[in-house]
Amino acid sequence: MSRPKKSLGQNFLHDANIARKIVDSMHLQRDNRVVEIGPGKGALTGFLLEKLSHLTAIELDDELALQLRATFSEKLTLILGDVLKVDLKTLAKQLGGKVRIAGNIPYNITSPILFWVIDARESVRDCTLMMQHEVAQRLTAKPRTKDYGILSVFAQYYAAPKLLFSVSPKSFTPVPEVTSAIVYLNFSGGGPQQPQALNDSIFRAVVRGTFGKRRKTLRNGLRGLGVPAQELKNISLSLNRRPEELTVTEFVSLADELTRHNVNISFHSTRQKHDA
Ligand code: SAM
Repeated sequence: MSRPKKSLGQNFLHDANIARKIVDSMHLQRDNRVVEIGPGKGALTGFLLEKLSHLTAIELDDELALQLRATFSEKLTLILGDVLKVDLKTLAKQLGGKVRIAGNIPYNITSPILFWVIDARESVRDCTLMMQHEVAQRLTAKPRTKDYGILSVFAQYYAAPKLLFSVSPKSFTPVPEVTSAIVYLNFSGGGPQQPQALNDSIFRAVVRGTFGKRRKTLRNGLRGLGVPAQELKNISLSLNRRPEELTVTEFVSLADELTRHNVNISFHSTRQKHDA
């Protein structure tokens, strides 16, 4: 058996009570279509399979994949590969409808995994993910706090995130340097509803573009997106404010005003979509 691979974020959960608590928090029904990200040695997989008639899991480590196939029954469909390369919309279609995502994920690709889910959100019911506690705090942060940023706005806009509970580093082998937390993200409209932006791309560009220059005013951030000064005169929100002061609803209003005024946004100057 090879050593845990740091490059694959391999910190295996050995505390069965925590694993059970995570699976219990999902309130599963036997016919739920669940996709587990990074099953590893199966800490969550076993408890998930106890409750489900079928489970799909995606694991990149071929050695672990072999072991999982040998350990679990034909109720487990194991996809060997990089989760980010799996087309989630197609997978959901193959499984027959919206999926529920679960996983103690590799922390080094938390943001890309969140955007992988967000970009396929119409195929996703909800997500129960273990992540670094610090990232969980960013997802659930309120405006005017140091943790409030791009991830907070996107997570709260698309999925009403809830931090369910913290998990001690001692629950893992090898012991990580950080505390972890379970976050629940609801993509099926069960949480508090945010108004939907008229144009999703403009909303995303405005959030990224203004937070890209966090210490600067909204005016400077929008100018950085190529919006001409003249066009900004029509915006009702005070552009002397800074991005971290805006609620998600205010970001939506700002994006909608720009959309209504047909303002040209330079999408190229926004950062890469996974670079939150
Ligand atoms: N779920 C297991 C547990 O709780 O013990 C393992 C958790 S470990 C933090 C993350 C797992 O994700 C590892 O098994 C690792 O091999 C796998 N992994 C890493 N990168 C991956 C990727 N891009 N796609 C799929 N699985 C990946």
